[in-house]
Amino acid sequence: MHFDTLALRATHQPDPTTGAVVPPIYLSTTFARNETNELPAGYTYTRPNNPTREALEKALAALEGGAVGMAFSSGQAAAMTLFQALSPGDHVVLSADAYYGTPALLEQVFHPWGLTYTRVDMRNLDAVQQAIHGNTRVVWCETPSNPMLSITDLLTVSRLAHEAGAICVCDNTWATPVLQRPFDFNCDVVMHSTTKYLSGHSDVLGGALIFKRDTEFAQRIRLLQGLSGAVPSPFDCWLVSRGIKTLGVRIRAQTVTAQAVAEFLNGHYGVEKVHYPGLLNHPDRALIQQQMNAPGAMLSVQINGGAAEAIRFLGKLKLFTRATSLGGVESLIEHRASVEGPTSATPQNLLRLSIGLEHADDLIADLAQALAD
Ligand SMILES: *Cc1c(COP(=O)(O)O)cnc(C)c1O
Repeated sequence: MHFDTLALRATHQPDPTTGAVVPPIYLSTTFARNETNELPAGYTYTRPNNPTREALEKALAALEGGAVGMAFSSGQAAAMTLFQALSPGDHVVLSADAYYGTPALLEQVFHPWGLTYTRVDMRNLDAVQQAIHGNTRVVWCETPSNPMLSITDLLTVSRLAHEAGAICVCDNTWATPVLQRPFDFNCDVVMHSTTKYLSGHSDVLGGALIFKRDTEFAQRIRLLQGLSGAVPSPFDCWLVSRGIKTLGVRIRAQTVTAQAVAEFLNGHYGVEKVHYPGLLNHPDRALIQQQMNAPGAMLSVQINGGAAEAIRFLGKLKLFTRATSLGGVESLIEHRASVEGPTSATPQNLLRLSIGLEHADDLIADLAQALAD
């Protein structure tokens, strides 16, 4: 089945009791027992389980081709719960270029709790190998990376993890299953911030973990999900399920526009460098062809000059909204180093663009007028 058909099938089942084509939102926090004290549908209480959340979780598993999906109240809650399933003394290997919240969780929450971690440039496979120790339990990849759009070889990195008895987790937020299915490259867990492309309209916060197999580790995380309760509300689950129905068309349209924007910026006299997997000069071209169906709608651009020039350029834009986050239908732009704070290693002249559904010609005209001096 093609992805678009799968996405519809996974999120659309008419309600068997009423025939409602759009499934209802089960707001109830509690579920009644019958005369003999049994739970007719197996639901007890919404923290451990809820029908609307369960529908989303099944859809997430189907989209990625995994055995089990779990929904969380944010991407960070998903990452947090995965790390909570480890034990003090365990070690994590993490990409050097990753969403800044992931290393922040490890440093500020889990390091004091007893986890150790090593950050490594995942393009350097020898460095990945050297970073993996006997107590490494998790190798955490993010590809394309944030904000440099570098590509990790998932097949090799997951093999290195497995050789050491560790699991390979892939943060697939930027690619989405439309562009890349990490289980096809032997990853064990896929993580998403559903806040981004999966919901797609910048109006819901959510996260997900999807497991290739229903292992003991997956069951431990299921336990933590219900026990610690970082779960999304039924309404938020319903919004993410609705977003998934249009994921394929949105990503494809946004990718076509992003390619045009990247080509316009690449080679413009006011631009130092463009980072986009769809450009022929991307250093990881071979890997992109092997691993991704299309280059996606995220790109970064380094403007000639430093932070001041980049911020002056931002100020002149009329169609792009100056805001963090990504994956919505409206185009966003941000000065990434400001968002990441004083410890950021991101170049000061770098701007990150999330391309939405506006017409490419209008976006390019806006960028052109802001670059003109
Ligand atoms: C946004 C994001 C996260 C964190 O997700 P939240 O929903 O904001 O908690 C993690 N990874 C990536 C790649 C992201 O873009």
